[in-house]
Amino acid sequence: MDLELIHRIAALRARLSEEIHAAGASVGFVPTMGALHAGHARLIEQARRESDCVVVSIFVNPIQFDRQDDYDRYPRALDADLEFCRQRGVDIVFAPPVREMYPESQRTFVEVTRAQDHLCGRFRPGHFRGVATVVAKLLNIVQPARAYFGEKDAQQLAVIRRMVRDLSIPVTIVEVPTVREPDGLAVSSRNQRLSPDERSVAAVLSRALRAAHDSIASGARSPDDVRHAALEVLKQEPVRVEYLEIVDPEEMQPVEQITGPVRIAGAIWVGETRLIDNVLC
Ligand code: AMP
Repeated sequence: MDLELIHRIAALRARLSEEIHAAGASVGFVPTMGALHAGHARLIEQARRESDCVVVSIFVNPIQFDRQDDYDRYPRALDADLEFCRQRGVDIVFAPPVREMYPESQRTFVEVTRAQDHLCGRFRPGHFRGVATVVAKLLNIVQPARAYFGEKDAQQLAVIRRMVRDLSIPVTIVEVPTVREPDGLAVSSRNQRLSPDERSVAAVLSRALRAAHDSIASGARSPDDVRHAALEVLKQEPVRVEYLEIVDPEEMQPVEQITGPVRIAGAIWVGETRLIDNVLC
């Protein structure tokens, strides 16, 4: 089946219900904001292996941006994205205009308390409410068997997993490991904004997370000691640290003592670009 580009909710629903759900085919869904890269490729490839029909959405969701300039500057590249999807055997790209997703002022929002509160939630007010709301809408529209999300955005994953459980949404959430550049930098659409100098500085975040990970592996149990190991590395480069936290992987709350699996999560600013990353330990 050749790639089909659909802009309207009704058209996507008709296509899926008449020809795909009716035939008993399983749908794998990959929600994205476009500017597709190797991280998205890994999600798409896994969806392709596990599903009869792969749907990718491309939608820069205005209600999850806390800053208008960030929304305006977000890279958009639909033609290149379509070719990217075609090469990876995607069946349907759903690329709705904003007025299709939000034809009137949105009055209904999904809030996942606790999981949304710390880390990025503290610094980007309303971000996860915007994410949870758009993902809930997209899951209602596509009704996939499986939906694929990257571990790179671990707090987003925690929010979505909890939303799906709390709202009894019939979908399996699949977590896909973070794709990295050779120097460790997590691949991200925002990396495009880095100047060559900033790009070499940016790898410090994954080095810092690695140092924190190693300190736990060699016996550190106090979050302060682990944070210190990471902050020492971050100090080596001209970056601004927004947060560096050791949290429990389920609800993303800071832990007082490391007694089980934890996620080490960080956000830094390199010039005007904000980068996030995390590792499970
Ligand atoms: P975005 O287009 O940035 O909203 O991301 C769409 C999906 O791709 C999300 O589930 C992200 O977590 C995932 N993703 C983004 N970057 C990466 C990466 N480097 N490795 C794995 N998944 C990623």
